[in-house]
Amino acid sequence: MGIEILEKKFQSYSLQHPLHLLQLREFAQQIAELQQKMRRLFAPVAPELCAACTTKCCSGMPIEGWFTAEDYFAYRMLYDMPAALKAEAPIWGSCSFLHPDGCSLPEDMRPLACVKVNCPALNRELEERGGIEEFKRLCAALDDIQTKLWELVTAHEEQ
Ligand code: SF4
Ligand code: SF4
Repeated sequence: MGIEILEKKFQSYSLQHPLHLLQLREFAQQIAELQQKMRRLFAPVAPELCAACTTKCCSGMPIEGWFTAEDYFAYRMLYDMPAALKAEAPIWGSCSFLHPDGCSLPEDMRPLACVKVNCPALNRELEERGGIEEFKRLCAALDDIQTKLWELVTAHEEQ
C-alpha cells in the first residue's frame, strides 16, 4: 500500500479513535526498543555483507516499504510522514526508501516485514556469531505486538 493511502487511513483513524492513540504509542515504543536490539545484532554483520550483496533484498520491487496499516500507524506515533519520493533519491527498481547508504527510514521503526525476515546469508552469519536465538526471540516479541496492533487498529472496523 502506498504511503499516501496509508497516511489518509492514519489521519482518519486518529480522528475517529483518539483514545486508541495512547495505546498505539505504547506499542510503537515497544517496537522501537525491539528494533534497536535487532540493529545491535545486525551491526557487526550487515554493513559488510549487504554492501557486497548482488541481490539486495530492498531492490527489485518498486514499493514504498512493506508497511501494513498497523505498522504504519505505529510508525506515525513516533515519526512524521516519511518522504518516500522516488524523484528525490531513486535507485531504479528499488524500494523508495532505499538510498545509496541503505534504508532511509529510522532504524528503530522500519516496516515489520523488513526486519523480521532475513536472507539465508544473514541468518548464517547470525548463527555463527551466536545471535540467531536472540533474533528469533525478538521476532516472536514483534509478532506478539503486531497481533495486538492489528486488534487495536481493526477493532473499529467491526463496530
Ligand atoms: S540482508 Fe541479505 S539479501 Fe538483503 S542486502 Fe543483505 S545480504 Fe543481501
Ligand atoms: S528495509 Fe527500508 S529500504 Fe528495505 S524494503 Fe524495507 S523500507 Fe524499503
